[in-house]
Amino acid sequence: MKIRILPSISDPRSQLLITYVLNDRIAIDAGALAFHLTGEELLRVQDIVLTHTHLDHIASFPFIFSEEFTNIREPVRIHATEKDIHSLRTHIFNNIIWPDFTKIPNAYGPLLGFHPFTPNQPFLLNDLTFTAIPVNHTVDTCGFLVDDGQVSIGFTSDTALTDQFWEEMNRSERLAAIFVDVAFNNALEGVALASKHLTPHLLTQELKKLHRKVEIIAVNLKPMCREIVGAEIVALNDPQITVAVLDKNYEW
Ligand SMILES: [Zn+2]
Repeated sequence: MKIRILPSISDPRSQLLITYVLNDRIAIDAGALAFHLTGEELLRVQDIVLTHTHLDHIASFPFIFSEEFTNIREPVRIHATEKDIHSLRTHIFNNIIWPDFTKIPNAYGPLLGFHPFTPNQPFLLNDLTFTAIPVNHTVDTCGFLVDDGQVSIGFTSDTALTDQFWEEMNRSERLAAIFVDVAFNNALEGVALASKHLTPHLLTQELKKLHRKVEIIAVNLKPMCREIVGAEIVALNDPQITVAVLDKNYEW
């Protein structure tokens, strides 16, 4: 499985906006998707799976349909919970914030289609099986387990202390790595708890729930505390835990 984490626009080390591209074809979240990929790369992404509707996870999403309007040959499939699909229709594609591209076809037909998923019920996209796992954030949010038949990779999305996600990771026999939200440094634990994210210290508490030795890759470091979070992760002195390298192709 090939996974590329997209950086945000100005600082290539910064993950202001969240997007993972899997095997060049499927995106998890679309914060940076249309801002960072070339038009050709963007058109290859036929499925977008949303963990939740916070802006840093959907910011570039509406632009796909304006920037590539004439080039989209088949509808981009948007996978989200029923509740998040309702939010996107109500708050983004409402002809106020952005045109309702669900009702504006191009010469080839509709530009996008919504495909609801239900947490804990696996669904197949190309050769990858996705299982959404509810996590603990300020809005309903799903982490994911993604399995290609050879390896499984976990994505916490935005979360504070949570249980079911780690139980699912323990059940996954092919688990190779988990991308974990470590947004704030230890001194900002109050902010992390209020906004429901993790710090390096909270991460060590979470990892006590994990009974598998796998790679732990810290993501979503807020730009203002990225350096400190990085130093605090190094200070954990655990070779299992690294900070994500953006725009690198991870492969397992
Ligand atoms: Zn969030």
